[in-house]
Amino acid sequence: MSRPELRLSSEQFIANIEAVRTRISPSVLMLVMKDDAYGHGITWAVETAQRAGVDWFGSYDVAGGVEIRRILQRPADVFAWATSTDSEIDEALMQRIDLGVGTAEYLSRVISRATVLGIRARVHLKIDTGLHRNGVLFEDWPATIDAVREAEEAGALELVGVWSHLAEASDAEDDDAQQVFLRAITTAAESGPAPQWQHLTASAASWWRPELRGTLSRIGAFCYGIRSADGPELEGVLPVAELTATVIDVVDEGAVISIGSFDGLPSTLAGMPVGTERGTRIVASIDLTTSLVEGGGLEVGDRVWIFGTGAHGEATATTLAERIDTVGEEILTRLTARVRRVASE
Ligand SMILES: *Cc1c(COP(=O)(O)O)cnc(C)c1O
Repeated sequence: MSRPELRLSSEQFIANIEAVRTRISPSVLMLVMKDDAYGHGITWAVETAQRAGVDWFGSYDVAGGVEIRRILQRPADVFAWATSTDSEIDEALMQRIDLGVGTAEYLSRVISRATVLGIRARVHLKIDTGLHRNGVLFEDWPATIDAVREAEEAGALELVGVWSHLAEASDAEDDDAQQVFLRAITTAAESGPAPQWQHLTASAASWWRPELRGTLSRIGAFCYGIRSADGPELEGVLPVAELTATVIDVVDEGAVISIGSFDGLPSTLAGMPVGTERGTRIVASIDLTTSLVEGGGLEVGDRVWIFGTGAHGEATATTLAERIDTVGEEILTRLTARVRRVASE
């Protein structure tokens, strides 16, 4: 049986990266690669981004950072922000992976592993700006900076960055978060050099709120062409991936296609439009390994676009996500390994 395909356009990925870069300049792009590059596949994503000249990569965990380092053909900075075990810290130090550090406990473990290995850790210290999701509280910040400076003098650490994450719930809250972020940088700069890499924003704020951008912007979704749920289209940015399935049978009610909920397509998407060479059709039901497309005119072997750029009348991943109150990222990252990733120029 023909497997569904996630077709990846390298050309569009590079074009999106360039559009994002132009938009955020002089802030530098850190391409976020979590969840297997948002379901696109990390090997293809790193290799293609490298061709686009990306020189900062963001991984959630150290294991992903090591994978990025293995795929990279030339020097680049790799940042991993999940709090990690001591053996992961060792791995990160040996692979020159920058560590995001958001607690005093993690900081002291990074310092002790760096001391043991004799490798200076590159640390980005996280300030809590209101999300309460792993970050040093402002009241603890001066003492934490003191510990950082002491470790710098001992040769165990270099404070290369200060970072935080925005809630993106309202502009006013994000403005307040930025104030805390800037005060944290000022405090850090009182006892040593201001950290070169200051990063606060992800896709939406980097794109729409220039005044919030730091020297570095951590961007995933928009580079893959995934717009925000309930957000507008993005100039110069289109989806990189299109999900297709093949007609495998024609029955009285319509055409049976080779994709179902076992492939990661939510069955709650029944009723959605899909694209075909003969125009838009409606999916009547999504079963385990197949789905039923209503209407006539389709033949065995025809291709059906589940989501993509809209070129064949299909919706984008985000437009589908909005039907079931989720985000485009979720539609992509749920696709299982049965969906073949196929890259093209
Ligand atoms: C996922 C993530 C990002 C990227 O977010 P996008 O909206 O996909 O650009 C940036 N920073 C952190 C900490 C993240 O978890």
